[in-house]
Amino acid sequence: MFESGIAATLRAIGGRVPGLGLLKSRRRVADALAEQDAALAALFETGTAGICEVDMRSQRFVRVNRRFCEILKRDAASLMTMTPRDIVHPDDRVAIEVEVAKAMEVSGKWEAEVRYILPDGDIVWARVGASIWRRDENGAPLRRISVVQDITESVKVKERLIQSEELLRLGHRVGRIGSFVRDLRTGELECSPECRHIFGLAPVEGKISRAAWMAGFLPEDQAGLVEAIEAALKRRDPEIACECRIRRRSDGSFRHLEMRARYFYDEAGRATRSVGVVIDITERKEAEERFAYAARHDALTGLPNRTLFHERLNEATERAQQGEAFAILCLDLDRFKDVNDTFGHPEGDRLLIEAAARLRLELRAQDTLARLGGDEFAIIQTGVIDPEDAARLARRLVERFAEPFAIKGQSVLVGASVGVAMAPRDGARAEDLLIAADLALYRAKAQTTRGWRFFDPQMNEEARERRELEQDLRRALENDEIEVFYQPVLDVATLRVSRFEALARWRHPQRGFVPPDQFIPLCEEIGLIFPLGERVLSRACADAMTWPAPIGVCVNISAVQVSAGNLDQIVAAALAASGLAAERLELEITETALLRDSEATLSVLHKLKALGVRLAMDDFGAGHSSLGYLQKFPFDKVKIDRAFTQTVDQSPKSAAIVRAIVNLCAALGMTTTIEGVETEAQFQVVAKMGGQNVQGYLFSRPQPAERAPALIAQFGGSPEEQRAAE
Ligand code: C2E
Ligand code: CA
Ligand code: CA
Repeated sequence: MFESGIAATLRAIGGRVPGLGLLKSRRRVADALAEQDAALAALFETGTAGICEVDMRSQRFVRVNRRFCEILKRDAASLMTMTPRDIVHPDDRVAIEVEVAKAMEVSGKWEAEVRYILPDGDIVWARVGASIWRRDENGAPLRRISVVQDITESVKVKERLIQSEELLRLGHRVGRIGSFVRDLRTGELECSPECRHIFGLAPVEGKISRAAWMAGFLPEDQAGLVEAIEAALKRRDPEIACECRIRRRSDGSFRHLEMRARYFYDEAGRATRSVGVVIDITERKEAEERFAYAARHDALTGLPNRTLFHERLNEATERAQQGEAFAILCLDLDRFKDVNDTFGHPEGDRLLIEAAARLRLELRAQDTLARLGGDEFAIIQTGVIDPEDAARLARRLVERFAEPFAIKGQSVLVGASVGVAMAPRDGARAEDLLIAADLALYRAKAQTTRGWRFFDPQMNEEARERRELEQDLRRALENDEIEVFYQPVLDVATLRVSRFEALARWRHPQRGFVPPDQFIPLCEEIGLIFPLGERVLSRACADAMTWPAPIGVCVNISAVQVSAGNLDQIVAAALAASGLAAERLELEITETALLRDSEATLSVLHKLKALGVRLAMDDFGAGHSSLGYLQKFPFDKVKIDRAFTQTVDQSPKSAAIVRAIVNLCAALGMTTTIEGVETEAQFQVVAKMGGQNVQGYLFSRPQPAERAPALIAQFGGSPEEQRAAE
């Protein structure tokens, strides 16, 4: 009876017991018992399994081995005072007691996985095999032997496995990750529920045919996908990753997917199956697309920006090399800055949006319209067979902008200029073409008539010259090559010198004297007007101090200097440095400066007045004359543009205009100077008009500074008369 118990016990630990179960005679039984005791004792010595012997009447441990102590983290002495019940997890005690009792009664054997509780409260999992190994004469159980193996690690691993499987499932659901297994020989797929959801397939189980699977992808992506998979299999790639787009079966929505699959090959190298995941990356993709869009479009007008324009231009330039000619048009609004200054930036923004809309209306869908920045737009006009096609468009655009814009209830003429370059004729590279169109635009802006120009290779030459001039100018300022000439302004009644107008001259080492019309506009553009203006101003004040009579000096001020806002400080400094009395200085400001009819301009003019200097409006009648300026700004004098003077003796209309201006100014308390008097006949007409001063070649051309005393001697200085006249 008990032999079988030991045999079972030894089996539980994988041992073998030789020759058991065949003993017949009592003596041999006794021998065998002794042998078994010895075997058991040896067994107790083993370190691979924990072994214990329990007295079944007292239920106490009577023998434990070292390994058993190790597993339960208790020493043998303390275990001897305990029962198996004491070391079982409290939650399992009752159930196990019942189970063990039953098993012992039925078969004398019991096997199970048991949770033991350690002294520190930790749990250890054990596989336990128990057998009765000794009974009394009546067959009642006396002793039981249990073999205990620590399986905590493997239980933990199993738990972790279950956990990670659950986690994976959860992750798939939360992360919208679908998985699939594909039989590469039949092409059939099995999809996880999430995978079905991504593709919008019915949530039923079952295989999906290759055709049904492929039908989900966008037709334009299908061939590429098949090709990529076939290529990967041919190369025996272990895996593949790709992005593709599907139309979801359930709702027809368009989704971006990322797919990754791992391939399995048989020994012959044939692909057998793939295991893969699909992730719905639509949101990420859309965010990326939004970001990419924002990086290549102008936020205000929604038009392509400079970056995208360059991309399109590069593409078009490449096509142009293959014979697909195109035109590039650069467009710039003429008076955008004025609108911004006058009406404020929000109105300026609205104007740009409307300008973009006007432009778009004139273009075809295949043309690119971009905003390069500020009020600069550029167009790629495709399919241009003849330059006349581009010319027609340029003309249309200019005409479109000849129509006024409605800004804050006012009708405002903004105007636009256009420069046109033809590809490939005007340049092989995109940059060259853009520069060409830009140069043409620059020229279009400079001219007074038609608002557009074609590029002309001559312009490159001019641009080069301009760059040279720019360098020369910077050097000129450093080397003090800018001189000041003086032209007398005479009193009409006495023909004595009333003032001198200071006029800048550039004494160029190679070119000789360069007239101001050739360098002042450039100085204004590149900011050199500030040092130049200060130089002329301080020189004029200083020169005036050397004149033998205290006559006045007129200095021309550029619109750019006025809008900078600190002109009063510069003037005050020049007066202080020279010691010139403020009332001897007269500043000539052209009407264009006043076009920037802003509070800032008005405030600068008032500050100048407060210094005590006189203000003259120059070139009156030449530009967009507005009588409103005369009323609004604190001018002392108006200089009537010499264009009128030139025809005053021949054209009754010119004479009428000049007379009207003189009378108007007199009525407003301003004096007048009639400029550009070249002939005696002209002088005879203007002398009778009632203006105070005349100026012109008839009397004197502008002269170097050292000639001023001679001029005063020649004409006589008349500061007194001048004051009397005012
Ligand atoms: P502006 O202020 O109208 O100056 C008068 C211009 O008319 C001068 O030309 C002068 O030489 C010219 N002029 C005078 N009498 C006659 C005449 O009888 N017939 C003709 N045809 N012309 C006459 P200039 O010196 O060449 O100056 C041209 C323009 O350059 C000036 O026009 C002025 O706007 C600008 N400018 C000259 N010097 C300066 C300066 O220091 N600063 C600024 N900002 N502008 C200046
Ligand atoms: Ca002037
Ligand atoms: Ca003038």
